[in-house]
Amino acid sequence: MPIMPDLRLRTIVSAPFDENSYILGRADRTEVLVIDPGFQPDLILDALRDEGLEVAAILNTHGHVDHIAGNAAMKKAYPAAPIIVGAGDADMLIDADLNMSAPFGLPIVSPPADRLAREGETIEFAGLNFEVFEIPGHSPGHVVFLLRGTPDIVIGGDVLFRGSVGRTDLPRGSPASKPSSGPCRPTPWFTPATAP
Ligand SMILES: [Zn+2]
Repeated sequence: MPIMPDLRLRTIVSAPFDENSYILGRADRTEVLVIDPGFQPDLILDALRDEGLEVAAILNTHGHVDHIAGNAAMKKAYPAAPIIVGAGDADMLIDADLNMSAPFGLPIVSPPADRLAREGETIEFAGLNFEVFEIPGHSPGHVVFLLRGTPDIVIGGDVLFRGSVGRTDLPRGSPASKPSSGPCRPTPWFTPATAP
């Protein structure tokens, strides 16, 4: 088991859905990853500037609007940072109907993905290696990012809620496709603070 480096991890909760955005990086570096920037990217940008951090990549666990609404602002501020999303949700970034923003009357799209994440690959940024697991069900291309160490850290998006699994009844969701293998197994994972 690799030794987990000291990390900086900041959770930023965005209104109105209590969506969790994360700033995650090694404590000994100023490069970080921004994960699931939501409806309040200014809060993330303020935190980054306050701490003098640079964004190496923008990760999206899935394509629902509350997890991608801040992509455009992040990309504008850090144009070199690639936007990475699961291959099966890439179309949701650029389609306001698919990402469920248009049905709420506020169409929002993201810049297109720069890179697609697929099952079994490892994504390395800012000195951290994330294993990718495809966990469809909440959305067709939902991915989970696993950072192995002691303890393991799972960036679970909406697959895992505190004490529950994410809902699978949304458009394009599918309870049948939620797998029982992969990360859904009893390991001593630590998941960064999840919304209730
Ligand atoms: Zn979602």
